[in-house]
Amino acid sequence: MMKAGVITGINRAEVMEIATPVAGPNELLVRVEACALCTFEQRIFDGTKQVGLPYLGGHEVAGRIAAVGEGVNPKWELGQKVAVKTLDQCNECRFCQSGENTMCEMVGRSGRRVPEMDGIGGLAEYMLLKPHMLYPLAEGIAPEVAALTEPLACVLHSMDLAKVDFGDTVVVLGAGIMGLLHLQLCRLRGARVIVAEVDSGRRARALALGASEVVHPGEEDLVARVRELTGGFGAQAVIVTPAISRLVEQAVEMVDNLGRIVLFGSFHPDNPLSIRPNKLHYSQIQVFGAVNPGSRDFLRSSRMLNHGLIDLTHYVDSVYPLEQIQEALEESVKPGTYRVVVTIGPEEETPEK
Ligand SMILES: [Zn+2]
Ligand SMILES: [Zn+2]
Repeated sequence: MMKAGVITGINRAEVMEIATPVAGPNELLVRVEACALCTFEQRIFDGTKQVGLPYLGGHEVAGRIAAVGEGVNPKWELGQKVAVKTLDQCNECRFCQSGENTMCEMVGRSGRRVPEMDGIGGLAEYMLLKPHMLYPLAEGIAPEVAALTEPLACVLHSMDLAKVDFGDTVVVLGAGIMGLLHLQLCRLRGARVIVAEVDSGRRARALALGASEVVHPGEEDLVARVRELTGGFGAQAVIVTPAISRLVEQAVEMVDNLGRIVLFGSFHPDNPLSIRPNKLHYSQIQVFGAVNPGSRDFLRSSRMLNHGLIDLTHYVDSVYPLEQIQEALEESVKPGTYRVVVTIGPEEETPEK
């Protein structure tokens, strides 16, 4: 049996014992070392998002290979530290075949990870996975940082759509973890970044991470400020991370001709937009949705961590053992937190091959 941190009701989670999966042919068992609590789990915990309960969440996962099934390529060795791309990909649909597996038809449809309940399954001691879902990580990376391979991969996907270039001005709306990850990557791409955020603590963090300007959008006219900072033209890219749909209308007003707008987060509520089609026609603005990290994004994210190219340690606010799943989720839904990470300490015995 293995322990699992399960959401059992609104604002209620508990540790349950469920069967430890067994690696069949072409499967691996990963012993989870850390799982970060993302907005997805937080919305299920606080009841914003309704799913069948009990629910075993957890999709930002890092761990070690604990068992290798028959027929698995011998390069996957017991004990190898890995990040997990928890979203499955079928490698057969038209999107996977075109190399765009963020859109895989099987995402969310590949059935239960564990027979007992629904959920992505990272908040448990073990996960049963396919080799293509694993990305090797270097030994020196702390488990709670390794678990952030997934959010970094999400933002790498978005950065490709935003096509951020050297010398660009980028407006990042929101300075939560996703906004700040965009800021860090934009700085690595040689861009100037303006961050809009209502919370003063988060604005200070954005400045510390290299934002050129921070704006309180409630106190200052953001569109006017962006125009002022760009000689009246607007920014080359705008990244929308808050769940507020009217921000997209503002983004259209603050982007330069040929500019890119990325709708990074999902919108709650999903209110319709009012945008003049001719604005898009004459300006050749491009508006992109960005959802899910692809395998290429995971590869690049794991490489960035392995080579020490980005520091993610400052996003980890607190770390809880799996036994304290209730406290961990309560902490994660508090406003202002970046990432709360659940860790699972080493165990005496590991399952046999
Ligand atoms: Zn996530
Ligand atoms: Zn597919």
